[in-house]
Amino acid sequence: AWEKRVRDSARIRRRPFGISVLVTGAAGFIGSHATNALKRRGDGVVGLDNFNDYYDPSLKRARQALLSHSGVFVVEGDINDGPLLRKLFDLVAFTHVLHLAAQAGVRYAMKNPGSYIHSNVAGLVSVLEAARSANPQPAIVWASSSSVYGLNTEVPFSESHRTDSPASLYAATKKAGEEIAHVYNHIYGLSITSLRFFTVYGPWGRPDMACFFFTRDILAGKTISIFQGPDDATVARDFTYIDDIVQGSLASLDTAQKSTGSGGTKQGPAQLRVFNLGNTSPVSVVELVSILERHLKVKAKRKFVKMPRNGDVLFTHANVSLAKKELGYHPNTNLQTGLKRFVKWYLEYYAPPSGSYLTKKGRGGGSSSS
Ligand code: NAD
Repeated sequence: AWEKRVRDSARIRRRPFGISVLVTGAAGFIGSHATNALKRRGDGVVGLDNFNDYYDPSLKRARQALLSHSGVFVVEGDINDGPLLRKLFDLVAFTHVLHLAAQAGVRYAMKNPGSYIHSNVAGLVSVLEAARSANPQPAIVWASSSSVYGLNTEVPFSESHRTDSPASLYAATKKAGEEIAHVYNHIYGLSITSLRFFTVYGPWGRPDMACFFFTRDILAGKTISIFQGPDDATVARDFTYIDDIVQGSLASLDTAQKSTGSGGTKQGPAQLRVFNLGNTSPVSVVELVSILERHLKVKAKRKFVKMPRNGDVLFTHANVSLAKKELGYHPNTNLQTGLKRFVKWYLEYYAPPSGSYLTKKGRGGGSSSS
């Protein structure tokens, strides 16, 4: 039965320090990497994901297959399913929750605003409700976003900067999540860490993100659109490699203090933390495209277009000194290296049969069989 698979998956092999973690969004990009890393080091880990079709669900199924191969069970369900969450906390005394399930992407919010409220606001509350009722109460680490800095132009972004000018509904729901975290910490003594991830990329990345769709479109010979701000201002992002994000996320789990329950303990109130996890070196989208061209050995057809007001911001740049000090976070993958690994994965995963556009145009023939 599935209950047994949940318990098996949660078994800790790394004694005496191992933890047992419920990872929501485990079939997602970041979730699958983090889950895999936890399993590899001997922690107990159970996944939860609703496999929605925001992007190609077959990519989620492929990630799930890899996880399953390493002995991780991913429960199929929605974070808003309270009875399911309670059942999971009954089956396993999770020490931690790594909450990554969310409706991601800033632009899609204009098409389907309700999905952001459902997953990022109601869904977060549902997870926190289940956690505060669980015995023992797990410590929570969850994904906020660099987008909370919104239109604030004071860079690099530090955790103490203002976050009162979100540019998208996505950003607003992440900001709301941080406020909700404060409430659950205050009233129920939950230990909660909010991680502000900065544009994460790497193998198994999301099809709705720049690295992925530029790669796809460059290979297909399509013209790609590069956004520019007012007065042709460059759009840049603090692109952060997935392994660095995983290192920071696991360090957050490892340094999370126990939840204290309502009213706190003699030692004081439960822990409430916020960290930037970025790369500290923003790169322009133009430069991103040039690096991709080099790795793909294909020249991109490009056009510059004025950035529409679609929720995107011009520039992100993380200050990560707090995460360095408190977590030992050390991002050390530059965009060159990271994109090389992304492209390698992309070409292997979407390996085209010989005779396709890749072998004809991009590689001068025969590459997929060599
Ligand atoms: P992703 O879309 O690949 O992963 C999210 C996963 O959660 C998906 O597999 C999805 O099926 C699942 N999910 C969504 N809603 C759910 C629900 N209601 N119930 C159960 N499962 C649900 O995205 P990702 O890039 O891996 O992002 C993970 C987290 O990090 C998200 O919270 C995202 O907002 C945040 N984040 C990501 C980035 C980035 O650059 N990738 C940057 C900042 C923040």
